[in-house]
Amino acid sequence: MTENPKRGAAPGPDPDAEAFSRRFKPSLLAKAAYATRIVPRLGWHRISRHIPAGPVHLIFALADHFEPAIIPTDGRDRAPADEQERRMESWCREYPRLANEWRDSDGHSFQHTYFYPAEQYQKELVDRLAEHCREGWGEAAIHLHHGVDAPDTTDSTRRTLTAFRDSLEQRGCLSYLDGTGAAR
Ligand SMILES: [Zn+2]
Repeated sequence: MTENPKRGAAPGPDPDAEAFSRRFKPSLLAKAAYATRIVPRLGWHRISRHIPAGPVHLIFALADHFEPAIIPTDGRDRAPADEQERRMESWCREYPRLANEWRDSDGHSFQHTYFYPAEQYQKELVDRLAEHCREGWGEAAIHLHHGVDAPDTTDSTRRTLTAFRDSLEQRGCLSYLDGTGAAR
């Protein structure tokens, strides 16, 4: 007869869940530290801002490091592939739901610019992002983390950037100067 070693043990916290939470969710302390940097600036802005008379045209630009692999507590670590896919799917599902009702005076939805890290290219993830952009929710653009552990070379940098640019172009993700021409 075999015995389950866990039988009879008091149920404790799941160590996997705790580890996951530590890696992927910033602590309250980290959030509070961030707030102490942001809130004073916001307060000063509210006090010192100039309020113009008449209609105001607002242009919002949101361009972020869109990194499905990020682990907030360790910039060099990478989330597992299934977690990256889950994040991408969740974003592409939730973003339209949230952004759809907020249209500008021309009827356009908010266009998010996704700066995707070239060195973290994953075909399935970029395919999903491209689909999201083609549906009208934004555009993809390139950023690159390189030379972190060792200096990069000109050739290697050029190769990485060009290959990623071409992969975005093939998916119709890039914006073009005056809407025409080739990717540069
Ligand atoms: Zn980045």
